[in-house]
Amino acid sequence: MKDLSRRSFLQNLGMSAGATTLALALPSFATLSKKESRTYPGKKLNVALCGLGNYAGMLAYGLEQSQYCSLAGIVTGHPAKAEEWKKQYNIPEKNIYNYQNFDKIRNNEDIDLVYVVLPNALHKEFTIRAARAGKHVITEKPMSISTKDCEAMIKACKDAGVQLAVGYRLHYEPYHLEIKRLGQKKIFGQVRLIEASLGYKSDDPTQWRLKKAIAGGGPLMDLGIYCIQSSRYVLGEEPISVTAQFGPNTNKKLFSEVEASINWQMNFPGGAVCSAASSYNYNVDRFFASADEGQFEMSPGLSYGPFKGKTSNGELNFPEINQQATQLDAIGKLIIENKYLPSHITGEEGLKDIKIIEAVYAAARSGKKIMIG
Ligand code: NDP
Repeated sequence: MKDLSRRSFLQNLGMSAGATTLALALPSFATLSKKESRTYPGKKLNVALCGLGNYAGMLAYGLEQSQYCSLAGIVTGHPAKAEEWKKQYNIPEKNIYNYQNFDKIRNNEDIDLVYVVLPNALHKEFTIRAARAGKHVITEKPMSISTKDCEAMIKACKDAGVQLAVGYRLHYEPYHLEIKRLGQKKIFGQVRLIEASLGYKSDDPTQWRLKKAIAGGGPLMDLGIYCIQSSRYVLGEEPISVTAQFGPNTNKKLFSEVEASINWQMNFPGGAVCSAASSYNYNVDRFFASADEGQFEMSPGLSYGPFKGKTSNGELNFPEINQQATQLDAIGKLIIENKYLPSHITGEEGLKDIKIIEAVYAAARSGKKIMIG
């Protein structure tokens, strides 16, 4: 069987509503990257990556490919990493921060946006600190570990007059744009059933994802969010109720704080049901939808790709893109043009997902159907 350990998962697995001009006074652009742009000749949005782990590495590569954004700064707890990144990406010393002196970024006009790529429970603190420093923010998914935290993050960004996005890379990916179109435009009629699953085998006991306080939850928080997201954007609806069941805990030592796996069912107002699963105990990466007059599916479907999919009419065939560069370009372009980000990638969207995640956990714990108000 194909190896889908975390490392290979990270390698293999991974719409736009019209934006309106910002009424808010946004922080002005400062000296921007001197690097030559591939096609966009104007000033780029200068991004500081906060937390230099695995995904920050992918974002750094995406930033290199980006037309509208450039890697201008870093925030890290490890001086040795700072040195390494400084050399590799030609980052000036004055644009390098640690978690203690991070607030000084407010005085740095060379940074326009902070991209928070820290473990989940830290998204709130660093989003709020970045906003108070007058920087736009992209925070990684899950937006945070509770709806209360998400609300505080949204408020801090609003109060500071900066924009807040969540790192939903699949919102710009061609296969996902297509399944969204197929579902929402009812190309095969009303979607009745969605099956969405994402999981990989986890075997590293030191991984923060297994610690409840910093991860907020297990595979549901980390991976299940893609099942929730895809069902929501394919249907264009919000679930009204959920039922859920924790899977068996086959390794009590490894999964002492978070679930090993979870299955849940979401009921949508148009009559569709989504049956979803997420796990650190088995490998799965698929999306399937059955509608009145046909079906569409992808496997791999929710990871980093490359994706493979088909509909009742034949194979889906779209170019493979750099998901991170495409996402950064879409966000960067709008901020450069002083326009609002579309609601499907903002903090409000992140909050909707966390609300559903909280309902799924409540349903699994109680064994009851939970209504989502
Ligand atoms: P990693 O563990 O690889 O990196 C996290 C980094 O955060 C560390 O390298 C460290 O950076 C910093 N950090 C600060 N405090 C802590 C702490 N207490 N414990 C661990 N790390 C700490 O995680 P990922 O990069 O995989 O994930 C980071 C975020 O990105 C998560 O929210 C995750 O859900 C999200 N993500 C999103 C993906 C997507 O496809 N959109 C894919 C993968 C992850 P330093 O050493 O510089 O201080």
